[in-house]
Amino acid sequence: MTTNPAIPTLTLNSGFTIPQLGFGVFKVDPEETERIVSDALEVGYRHIDTAAIYGNEEGVGRAIAASGIPREQLFITTKLWNDNQGTESAHRALDESLGKLGLDYVDLYLIHWPTPARDRYLESWLALEQLAAAGKTRSIGVSNFLVEHLTRVIEGSSTVPAVNQIELHPAYQQREVTGFGREHGILTEAWGPLGQGKYPLFEEDAVASAAAAHGKSPAQVVIRWHLQIGNIVFPKSNSRERIAENFDVFDFELSDAEVAAITALERDGRVSAHPLEVN
Ligand code: NDP
Repeated sequence: MTTNPAIPTLTLNSGFTIPQLGFGVFKVDPEETERIVSDALEVGYRHIDTAAIYGNEEGVGRAIAASGIPREQLFITTKLWNDNQGTESAHRALDESLGKLGLDYVDLYLIHWPTPARDRYLESWLALEQLAAAGKTRSIGVSNFLVEHLTRVIEGSSTVPAVNQIELHPAYQQREVTGFGREHGILTEAWGPLGQGKYPLFEEDAVASAAAAHGKSPAQVVIRWHLQIGNIVFPKSNSRERIAENFDVFDFELSDAEVAAITALERDGRVSAHPLEVN
């Protein structure tokens, strides 16, 4: 087992802490999930980001059970899929996810997309408040919410989301919604932190030159950028080697100038779906 360095933690507005670096399992084949998540836990990750729609919660659960790691040392997130928005269906969906994960509670439960055409996200949010009160999830948050959706749940409930999980990488930094989050105590979780491999991020000068200067890989530099600007991040990889590489980011620090040069790569370069288009 790799030595577990002190993974930095952030404090959520619920009072619970979250490891700032985790492991994401979007597009990890359900058949391979147990092995891949076991690799990640062996490398030292303690925070896993899954979702009902990924179809791999059972594999995540098997890896957790096989690891023997005490439950309180793990941080597990799953998400409410669009079809299950609503009060009763949200309760049923989390029960199903907990059954698949083999857990009594998750650390964080998220509304996966606002799906504005369904117009049930406020009702779902009120259901998530009940699920937190019942102890089935320690913290609750949202994903892919724009300012208008965040405003509506804040005004219509008594809980501010702990996090907003959004597409975010150097070419697409979503400054409006992250700024709103900062003002309201909502932490930003960056999905697609490496741009999902969909644009030549690693060849950008700002990234490649920092990598050369520190003797690290471009992916490690980008992960470090996220951590240093305060994002929670959980890069995905199927490869044990890259899983370990993405975790090996605690022995160097980018300078302010290097962070600024990477931040300057913003170009409205969204690589995946827009929240208003997913329903
Ligand atoms: P990432 O930005 O993490 O990119 C993953 C891609 O990068 C894979 O193709 C992977 O390939 C490659 N990669 C990983 N590490 C390296 C490396 N060190 N060097 C070179 N290539 C690398 O995209 P994701 O979409 O997976 O985002 C991360 C997580 O965010 C997801 O797994 C999921 O948990 C969450 N997410 C949430 C969404 C939401 O709507 N809330 C939407 C999308 C993601 P390989 O596997 O071959 O290594």
